Formats: sequence, structure tokens, C-alpha cells
Amino acid sequence: MIKDDEQHDAIQEAVLAKCSVQDGGISGTARLVDKEQDPCTIVIFGASGDLTQRKLVPALYRLYSEGGLPDSFLVVGTSRTEMGNDGFRDKMKKAIPLYCDLDRAMWKDFASRLYYHPVDYHEVSAFMSLRDFLEHIEEQNHLMGNRIYNLAIPPSLYKTTIQNLGQSGLSDQKKRKHGWIRVVIEKPFGRDLETAIDLNNTLRKNFDEHQIFRIDHYLARETVQSVLMFRFANSIFEPLWNRNYISNISIIAAESLGVEHRAGYYEEAGVLRDMFQNHMMQLFAMTAMEPPSLFEAERVRDEKVRLFRSLRPFTSVDQGEDVILGQYDGGIIEGTEVPAYRDEPGINPESLTPTFATMKVFVDSWRWQGVPFYLTSGKRMARKLTEIIINFKEVPHSVFRTVLGEHISTNRLIMGIQPDERITLTFQTKNPGARISLRSVTMDFNYLQNYKGPVLDAYEKVLLDVIGGDHMLFWRQDGIELTWAFLTPILEFCETCSDRSDRLFFYKSGTWGPEPAGDIMKSHDHKFQGKTDS
Ligand code: NDP
Repeated sequence: MIKDDEQHDAIQEAVLAKCSVQDGGISGTARLVDKEQDPCTIVIFGASGDLTQRKLVPALYRLYSEGGLPDSFLVVGTSRTEMGNDGFRDKMKKAIPLYCDLDRAMWKDFASRLYYHPVDYHEVSAFMSLRDFLEHIEEQNHLMGNRIYNLAIPPSLYKTTIQNLGQSGLSDQKKRKHGWIRVVIEKPFGRDLETAIDLNNTLRKNFDEHQIFRIDHYLARETVQSVLMFRFANSIFEPLWNRNYISNISIIAAESLGVEHRAGYYEEAGVLRDMFQNHMMQLFAMTAMEPPSLFEAERVRDEKVRLFRSLRPFTSVDQGEDVILGQYDGGIIEGTEVPAYRDEPGINPESLTPTFATMKVFVDSWRWQGVPFYLTSGKRMARKLTEIIINFKEVPHSVFRTVLGEHISTNRLIMGIQPDERITLTFQTKNPGARISLRSVTMDFNYLQNYKGPVLDAYEKVLLDVIGGDHMLFWRQDGIELTWAFLTPILEFCETCSDRSDRLFFYKSGTWGPEPAGDIMKSHDHKFQGKTDS
């Protein structure tokens, strides 16, 4: 027996060794970029802010230390706060070690490429001064003038900043002899359909579509991208990926954190704007879209848009058949008592902002007719968890019914996005022993198994793609408008319906959401059924 196991292990090792030779990527040193990158200047608006310190600059530093940035690059921070280059460098030097290791020698060279220039977002003259500053340092550093403007500022400042980039000539690619200009904006892309269109009009007056990169960093997670590879690079799963074999699909993005320090933003946004219009819709699109003819940005985005267009509009939001909204109450998370949403600093004590939503969504297409997609997201839930669960149908006829009864647990495929990056397939097998009985077992694939190369964090990936000009992981405006239009009935219900307070369900922090959220999935075998607050 031991011999058999050893032999089995040896065979597995040989297979893995073969894999690593075949695809060149499982082991060995993977290169971060395949092609020569253009030298460029990355201008960060909102450089004194949270996103810059927590994500953008640490991601740039890590890319730099892994050889992922062009040989020549500059990072220029701007915001209202008055500070000089040294002040900015010191601030970043303190911020980076909170998120990744800082190597002294590496930092010295990286820091020499960091600059700072203050701006008042409302003054066009400040942008003209910034333009002169950029031209000056680019000339000093022999840069050609390729530029990325990264808007890490509150959404209320997007329009003014974009207009001033235009008026000061900073956005004008055509007038320049060399190089490209790109602008990166963060979600939320507007706060509803109307404002999203308005923001886009301002963007398009000042930039061409190919210059605009609308970030959804969820899409840049390795395992989210891997959903398409899993579906379209294997011949055994896609034939099952439809109403004939799938009973329902559940997509959950649960956070154990509360509103933290973003009370002002969250009161205005709520879970629908914060999670659904963007991250949830992208996870849904990766799971449900048709295969594109080629893995190429526009074709992939075309297929997503086709899917969004097939979403069945909500008809009964107010009756709670399709949508359940909730708000967290106090409770215990990881042994610590946490306050109710309404008791958080900066939150209106009578707030009706939903911090949780679950919705049953249908797609009107041949592939998905009749298959419910349950999209669920919330704050202060039992634990941080993002996963896509494919629940397959029951066997059409149980040959074991005389011994095991009619029902046999169904197959389930789980694509774990975070914290566990894994794919798990559950199936039935015979329980060892004399009695006839079944047990569910799982085949488990850990995403990083046998991989030794560098792993990119989501912001590293999106920054690399912006430098490379690849739009694959970024939103296109038609998708944004279709998803806002789809969510409009729920947003209107949340904000204007007179009995909306009756339809906002409270749930204890540390649970899987309010009780009615479990009811919405009652008729289906669902992982979270029975685990909601009761
Ligand atoms: P911050 O609230 O930290 O603001 C960024 C900077 O903008 C501040 O440092 C401040 O700089 C300036 N600012 C803030 N308020 C005003 C104001 N009223 N008028 C003028 N300037 C102001 O934002 P974040 O860094 O958290 O987020 C930036 C963008 O990224 C937002 O659009 C957010 O939605 C998005 N985002 C953020 C994430 C995060 O984890 N933080 C995650 C995903 C998206 P100064 O005062 O020096 O001008």
C-alpha cells in the first residue's frame, strides 16, 4: 500500500514537472510583463489621501521592486495639501511598510522618482502651473511625455478636475508631438444613470474613449480573471454551464468590516452603489457571459454588455420577492462587540442606508432561462468571504431511491475569490463500508498550488494594464449605463418609497444577513440557508 502511495506521488510529481515545462508558468520565474513598456509619468490626484497611501503607491513600489515598471518613470503626487517633494517622499516612506516590505536601496532609487506639486482642484491656473511643473521634470528626466492621470479623489471632484485638465491643455494628446495621455477614474462612476451619463459627457469632452480607464479593482484579482480561463479553457465545464445542468448560482461578497472611516461616503452610497453597480455586476458577468470570439478587450467587454442587456428588469422590488435590503445592528465579530450602523461615528441615527442586499436576478437568454442568480453583499457579516457558487441540478432519476430515498445532494462548484483563492468541486461517492450510503466529498484546488512566480495584487495589475494600454479589465461606459439602469428601481425604492423603512431588515453583526434573505433562496439548496440572523 505504501508502495502504491509512493508510486502515486511520484507520478503526480512527474505530471506536475511536465506541466511546468508545457506551460512555462507553473514554476520558474514568471515575467511580469511580456513587452517593452513606454516610459511615463504617473500623476496622482488626491496624493494625500487614503487610496494613494494604502494602494497606489505601495502597488507602484512593489511593481518597481519586481521589475514591472518601465526603466524611466516618474510619480507625481498632487492634492490641496501643501508639501514639497521631500514631504511627499517621507509620507510614502511611512505608508509603504504598512503594506509591503521596504528595501532601503530599492526605496532610495524609487523615492528619487517621486515628486509633489500642490493643486487647488477648482482653479484652472493651478493646473497650468502643474502642466509647467510636469514639462519641466519630464525634460530633466528625459521622458517623452507619456502620462497617466490617476484620479484618487472624492467623486464630487471628478468633473471639476477633468474640466480643468482639459482647459489647461493637460488632456490634449493631439497637440503633443510625442506620447499618449490616459486618465484613470475610480468607482463610483456617478451615483445613478443620469449622473453617470453626465460624468461621461465631461470625460468625453476632454478625452477620447481609448484614453479612459474606469477601474474596478475586483476584476484584477487573479481568481476573478481565472473564472474566464476556467470556463473557456476547459472542455468539460462549459457544456454544463447552462439551464440544463445548473439549478442556481450564488455570488456572495461578504465583509466583516463595518463602515470604518468612510461614513460620509457610505451614507450616500450604501451597499447598492458601493458593491452592486460595480464589483457584483462584474463577478456576475464573468460567471454568466457568453464566450467572446477572442480574448481581446473589446470583444470581452462586448459580451459583458450583451449579458447586461439581457438582465430581466425588476418588477416587485417593494414586495421583497426579488430584493431584500438590510442594515447591520450591533453584534459580536471575532469576539469583539461592534456597534450598530446607526451608532457608528458620522452616521445619521435614523439612517435608512442599506448595508446589505441580496437580489434574485434572471437573465433572459437561451442559456440561462429560469436559472436564478442570487447576488449577496453586505458589511459586518460573519466573515470576509467572496465566492461564486454553482449549484448543479439533482440527478434526473435516483437509482438508489430504495436505499437512500429520493434526494441525493447535488454537485456544487465553488470558485473562491477571497480569502481562499481556490476551486472546489463537491460530488457524491460511496461511504466505505458494508452499508450502502453516500457521502459528499470535494476536489480542492488551491489557486497558488505549485506556483512559485510573483503574484500581483489587484492594484498592481490595473496599474500595469494602464501603462500597457490594455482595457480588458476596465469598465466601458455602455456597461456602466446598463447596470445603473438595471439597479434604478431598487435605488428609487430605497430613496423615495414611503414604506421603505418597513422593508429594511436589521441583522446582527456577525451573521449572514437578515432572516428574509434566507427565505429568498428557500426553494434552493443554498450554502447560507438557515445561517441568517433569526
Ligand atoms: P480620501 O477621502 O482619502 O480623499 C483623497 C484626497 O482628496 C484627500 O487626501 C484630500 O486631499 C482630497 N479631498 C478630500 N475631500 C476633499 C474635498 N472636499 N475637497 C477637495 N479635496 C478633497 O479618498 P480616498 O483616497 O479614500 O478615495 C479616492 C477615490 O478612490 C474615491 O473616488 C473613492 O471612492 C475611490 N476608492 C477608494 C478606495 C479606498 O480604499 N480608499 C477603494 C476604491 C475606490 P487634499 O485635502 O490634500 O486635497
